[in-house]
Amino acid sequence: MNFDLDPETAEMRDMVLRFARRELAGPSGGSGDAPAGPGGFDAGDFRRRWLLAGKQGVVGATVPGRYGGSGLDAVAAAAVLEALGEGSPDTGFAFSVAAHLFASLMPIVEFGTEEQKLGWLPALCSGERIAAHCVTEPEAGSDALNLRTRAERRDGHYVLDGEKCFTTNAPVADVFVVQAATAPGGGFFGLSTFVVDAGTPGLSVGPPYRKVGLRGSPTADVRLDGCVVPADRMLGAEGAGASVFTSSMKWERTCLFAAYLGAMRRVLDDTVRHVGEREQFGTPIGGFQAVSHRVVDMTLRLEAARLLLYRAARGLADGSQDEIAPALAKLAVSEAAVQVGLDAVQLRGALGVLDGEAETLLRDALPARIFSGTNEIQKNNVARAMGLTGRRPGRRR
Ligand SMILES: Cc1cc2nc3c(=O)[nH]c(=O)nc-3n(C[C@H](O)[C@H](O)[C@H](O)COP(=O)(O)OP(=O)(O)OC[C@H]3O[C@@H](n4cnc5c(N)ncnc54)[C@H](O)[C@@H]3O)c2cc1C
Repeated sequence: MNFDLDPETAEMRDMVLRFARRELAGPSGGSGDAPAGPGGFDAGDFRRRWLLAGKQGVVGATVPGRYGGSGLDAVAAAAVLEALGEGSPDTGFAFSVAAHLFASLMPIVEFGTEEQKLGWLPALCSGERIAAHCVTEPEAGSDALNLRTRAERRDGHYVLDGEKCFTTNAPVADVFVVQAATAPGGGFFGLSTFVVDAGTPGLSVGPPYRKVGLRGSPTADVRLDGCVVPADRMLGAEGAGASVFTSSMKWERTCLFAAYLGAMRRVLDDTVRHVGEREQFGTPIGGFQAVSHRVVDMTLRLEAARLLLYRAARGLADGSQDEIAPALAKLAVSEAAVQVGLDAVQLRGALGVLDGEAETLLRDALPARIFSGTNEIQKNNVARAMGLTGRRPGRRR
């Protein structure tokens, strides 16, 4: 397989890298600096960054050009997210962009009518509007199809009632892509997806959470209380909600995690510099085998995870329905990020526990094992796809 980027994608990647280094260099709640607002998050600065990212074509990267996007495929999108993660220490911002793009805009691209796409996507691609995806509920995390949020059809509209939690971008979102049960207990075909504007009566957002990592990405609860949504706000057919969700997770598990590849690269490069400069016992510590082997292990984890991610991205770009490749990519990148973060802290000695890029990577990596389906759920998915269902095989004749 050829993993080289074509010249156009390489140019886009370099442009995003320069943009991230120039415009996203400072923290936005990510580095432990004094929190600018509730949840350690500065909404004004976030909007400013978002608009700039919109101008670069980043927040609508995979949306076709006729709806205002950049029309990139999954491989090019992974390269863009990797550049964002490498160029900026604010992995939370890259995470927010990815949640907006892959879990909210791509469902509109893949399931929306022409009218819905033309109505919603241009402003979401330009950076004027921000989207959030509401699935998780207090009682429905990994068991994501078992939602309590109801959408009841009445005349020409639906009434939504329920509670969502851990919604990325909720404190700044203009548009919410909401999963709700139209046929409670109906399993895979019991859910439907709605696109709800912020400001719709009955939709309210809680205060931003204070999180251990990804502090540049705002997260909050979303409440739906008798929220009336016109029927033409439904995405796909009634009962298609689980398909919308599954499709968005395929994008997330592949392309979102590329931001962590970039973050690992940035921290690894800085680690190599540190162990080459820091002297103990009269010699740079990088000369001690225990140190150099740790750096090699960090490199091995990053490069192996990177290959799995780009292989999954290639499959997605080619229309593959393979469930295993995105799950393995998600597992490999998130586990590598945690271990690379731990190693980067250790190799800096006491400096590693001060605010800085190493401890930020570690904090930002912890949620990566949880969102987009926990790593345990990914292993369940892979095992199921391998035919390991836990059921007794039929008797041999
Ligand atoms: C930073 C961040 C951003 C997020 N953004 C969003 C968002 O934008 N929109 C949204 O809808 N959600 C979002 N989430 C929520 C996320 O999708 C859920 O946290 C995730 O699905 C896990 O659900 P849970 O937290 O309720 O954990 P639980 O489901 O309660 O799981 C707890 C533990 O039990 C394990 N477990 C559960 N079931 C099984 C099983 N069958 N087999 C093996 N182990 C199991 C899990 O792996 C985990 O270790 C976000 C989460 C985080 C951390």
